[in-house]
Formats: sequence, C-alpha cells, structure tokens
Amino acid sequence: MGCRQGLQGYCVPMPETSPRAHRPPTRVVDLGRPTRGDDTPVNPPITVSSTYVGTGEVASGARAYGRYSNPTWDPFEDALARLEGADVPALLYGSGLAAIASALDLVALGGTVVMPAHTYQGALLGAQETARTGRFNLVTVDIADTQEVIAAMRTAVEDTASLTHERPVLLWIESPTNPMLEVADLPTLIEAAKASGAFVVVDNTFATPLLQRPLETGADVVVHSVTKYLAGHSDVILGACVPADAPIREALLHHRSIQGAIAGPFEAWLGLRGLRTLALRVERSGDNAMVLARRLEGHPAVRVIRYPGLRNDPGHERAAAQMDGFGAIISIDVGSAAAADRVVDQCRLWTPATSLGGVESLVERRRRHTAEPATVPDGLIRLSVGIEDVEDLWDDIRAALDVLEA
Ligand SMILES: *Cc1c(COP(=O)(O)O)cnc(C)c1O
Repeated sequence: MGCRQGLQGYCVPMPETSPRAHRPPTRVVDLGRPTRGDDTPVNPPITVSSTYVGTGEVASGARAYGRYSNPTWDPFEDALARLEGADVPALLYGSGLAAIASALDLVALGGTVVMPAHTYQGALLGAQETARTGRFNLVTVDIADTQEVIAAMRTAVEDTASLTHERPVLLWIESPTNPMLEVADLPTLIEAAKASGAFVVVDNTFATPLLQRPLETGADVVVHSVTKYLAGHSDVILGACVPADAPIREALLHHRSIQGAIAGPFEAWLGLRGLRTLALRVERSGDNAMVLARRLEGHPAVRVIRYPGLRNDPGHERAAAQMDGFGAIISIDVGSAAAADRVVDQCRLWTPATSLGGVESLVERRRRHTAEPATVPDGLIRLSVGIEDVEDLWDDIRAALDVLEA
C-alpha cells in the first residue's frame, strides 16, 4: 500500500509511517501523515480541485477528474484500511448509506442478499426497495440465530446455483445491530459463508476497527458510517467501504466513480482529524457505557436493557470472545412509546437527537422513525453514550427515568 501505482494507475507516496507492531491507539494518531521533511506540514493538506492536469489516456482509477479521485481522500483511506487489516486502500463515500448502496451492488443480478431483520433501518429500507425492483432477492434473518442464518444462506446458494455472475449470494452482517444490539457469531458465520461460496459484508460502525476487525476473520468488505465514531463529533456525514482485496476494490471504485457518491474534500479531512482521538473516545465512552448499563439494569423503570458488556446480556459471551470492548450504545425498553417520550423529554444533559458515536451523549426513542421495523419495541430508547463525566450523565438519565416511577 506504500504506493498506489498499478492498483489505481497513479502513485501517491504513502510511507509506512506507522509500523504494524504499533498498537491501535498509536496508529490512529500516526497513520496518514505526510512524508517527513524539513518544514513539511504534520497534517495532510485539503486539495480543492475538480480536475487534474493531463493529456494521456484516462485509465480506470486515474486521478484525472474530481469524481474519480482526490488527494485529500488518500491518507484517510489508507489509515482506515490499515486499521481494519486490509491490504488495499479503503474508499470514502459521501455518507454511510452511499457506501452501503455500493457494497449491496456487488451482488449478482438476480442473486440473494441475506440481511439481519434489525440491521440499520436505512440499509434495510434501501435493500427492500431494490429487492422490489427485482434486482436481487432479499431474505431477512435473526442475525443472532446462527443456525437460521446458515440455513438461509445455504438455501440462497442452492436457489442461485444457475447464476453465472460473480457473487450470487451476499451475507450482510451488522454486529452489534442498531438499535437492538444483537451480536452475531462473526467467526462461525463468516466461515460458513466462505464454505458455501457466499460473499460477506460487515457493517462495523458500532464497533469500529479498534474493537472488531471482521476482515481478519475473512469478511470481504467492511462498511462504515464514518459519520459516527470514526469522525466522532456529529459535524460531518461520511461513509467508507474497506475491501479485503484489489478486485473487490476495483469493482467498488468503478461504481463510486460512475454513481458519483463521493466525499467532499473538507469532509474527508474532518474524518481523518476525528480519527486522531478515536482510541481516547472509544475508551472513555465505553467505560461510561459500562457504568451506566450496570446502574440502568437496576432501575425499576427499565423493563429490558441490551448492552453486550452486561454479563447476563444474550450477546455477552460472543462479544467478549470476538470484540476488544463492548462499545458505547445501550438500548433500554421502558414499556411504551408514551413512557419513552416522557423520559427523552426530561433529559437536560443528554441531547434528544438521532445519530450516535459523537462526543456528546444522545438519546432517542427509535420508533419515532416510522421506517423502523415494528419488531423494535415501541418503548425502546437508544442511548449513545458520550465522553462527558459519567456521574453527570447518570444524574440526568436517572432523574428522567425517575419521573416514570413518581
Ligand atoms: C448511521 C448508520 C448508517 C448510515 O450512515 P450515514 O452516514 O448516516 O449515511 C449505517 N449503518 C449504521 C450501523 C449506522 O449507525
């Protein structure tokens, strides 16, 4: 990855400034820096140009034009790939959903996509709408039920046996899922997918590469809503695909160049800037989430709590085995939409807003989105735990929940 020549047809000197031996908290700070020299900047510049000088034949992936490439993307794409353990650069997109649409488009015409019933609602909605056009078949599964997923995948492989296109079956995994926090058995599902010839994409938004690296387990593509933890400050919409190898990257790059769902240079730069503090933010928000989850578990207004860090959570053992931490999203069910709305209304420090993964704590009743599946409880509140002082967060959410007991 030191130089992109051959892969993309142009060369960006990207020295291995951060040896693999360095630990992730070092690498998020050190990756994607410009080559050192006297008076060189420590940060990469923002390149604002829609076109590039040239007269030669424009091959696939050439710099050439601002929809194909921008030097501002390169250091972030390089850093993200290395953090996920990929051998080729990642690809930035204008949003997480643009990256997801591009990854979904890898499945063969007439193929089958097997997807968690509780995957991020935007991804599910997009897949459902595409499936209705006949582009592919969509099968939804309980991603925590390993046998059900494997059975669905096997059936899909048999059903698509006559297809000659590449990638007839795409297994879509999200773990932990948004907002139900179900945990998939990643090693088992990925191994089963490989054995049956299915292609695997993992949405790694909740975990980030600091807590989970699905490519190392054999996944073909990792997708991110960079908007969330990677950028981390609720000030940018950005997405990424992290392909495992060059042919998949080539297919995604072609799609991105043609469809045009590219990132703006300033947004890409903000994403890399946010990445610098990822390790600190993931650690602090994860510690906060663990403290809050233990206390919320004992609050009388909380009927059900899901947080993989809790010992008796259904996903705990899997998460402990395959993740390096449990993340900072908690969901609680307070029984009804009215009760959940009252809790959210009472919050003063927690901000009532959708999204997650920023430095500030957010709280939201998920079913306020009418597209959220009806199997997500009406009274489910998703908590995105930030990096504030945990006692202030607790005082605020406890007071809000206490109102239901009064
Ligand atoms: C937010 C989110 C997305 C969508 O990303 P955008 O950047 O909002 O387009 C996809 N997957 C998950 C898990 C998310 O939380």
